[in-house]
Amino acid sequence: MLVNQAVITGKSAAKGRTPEEIDQIRTTLRSRFDDLNSEYEAAVVENHKLRLVEIGDSAGDDQADSGSKTAERDAATSLLRTLLDRRTQAEHAMARLEEGSYGNCEGCHNPIPWERLEIFPSATTCVNCKQNRERRAG
Ligand SMILES: [Zn+2]
Repeated sequence: MLVNQAVITGKSAAKGRTPEEIDQIRTTLRSRFDDLNSEYEAAVVENHKLRLVEIGDSAGDDQADSGSKTAERDAATSLLRTLLDRRTQAEHAMARLEEGSYGNCEGCHNPIPWERLEIFPSATTCVNCKQNRERRAG
């Protein structure tokens, strides 16, 4: 009520939202996390199978065969890494939602536009800082 209204001020983007909007984000993040988690687990199993096959029949391999297997394994490994990254990001966003810092950019600490969060609920930086980071990384 009035007391709550007074509390809902401050700089965090998330603090300006209604509890329904926060719930919506929480639900989205949770289901995103669950999806990524099962995708990741499936990829782990797949990766494991790939390795078993490799150990099983590496003896009779010719050059081309082992080349395509290496490519397959590399693709599986990079998929694992991507899924893990995304899962970590969703988890991180959920933690920030609980501690109340959700919606603030980790780079410049300004509120991230809500429109961006609706599209990318696990975003923890604004577009500018994201581009700066990518430029630095690349
Ligand atoms: Zn920023």
